[in-house]
Amino acid sequence: MEISRGKFLIGATAALLIPGAEQADARSKIISKLPASKTKRFAWTIDDGISSSAVASYLDIAEKGVHHLTLFVTSGYDSWRTHSKQIARLLEAGSIQLGNHTVRHKDLTTLSSQQVKNELMGCHNFLLDEFGYDARPYFRPPYGISNAKVRSAAAEIGYTVPTMWYGSFGDNFGVSDDRIVQFAKKWIADGRIIIDHSNKLKSQRALIQIQQIMKSRGLQSVTLTEAFGPNFK
Ligand SMILES: [Zn+2]
Repeated sequence: MEISRGKFLIGATAALLIPGAEQADARSKIISKLPASKTKRFAWTIDDGISSSAVASYLDIAEKGVHHLTLFVTSGYDSWRTHSKQIARLLEAGSIQLGNHTVRHKDLTTLSSQQVKNELMGCHNFLLDEFGYDARPYFRPPYGISNAKVRSAAAEIGYTVPTMWYGSFGDNFGVSDDRIVQFAKKWIADGRIIIDHSNKLKSQRALIQIQQIMKSRGLQSVTLTEAFGPNFK
């Protein structure tokens, strides 16, 4: 699923109606693919964290050091506290990156600019307090929904990179593990940002199959910062 450009064009038009938003929206860099590289790589990004055991299964994958993962944290879920020691260690090792996925996972387009900032800052401050970690500039709007007003509010507090995706494992729709593996086969490819979720524990068999697909295609997952560099914002 390549992101519809039409949606963002509508967003850009709407920016004209909001004082100051046009400039802030111009500051936002919406991404769904990685920059070109001679190395074959993609970004495995995992959202939410409703299931503590699912979060643990991804941390275990990161422990192996083959795939570097980007976890988009919804800080209202306990998993991030439950596994805080392991997360801190993996951050230190450079095996994971954390992105901001708000506190309560609301559709940000239904909120005021101040409420958007509160949702992002609540998660931001949690990551700072718990891990001494600054997730800027990467945030993922819940459900992938944003508009110029949302992006403007986010940019004002340093969240200038709304992180979308080029393909999904489709696992947030309650589909079977076999179907998830089919989605993985379909979407995993060089240069893509892939979205996955830690809301329900996948079988070990499915997680192994997904990693075998990556291996057979000669692909390693890198974090967003590894792909875009430390000065991207
Ligand atoms: Zn989400």
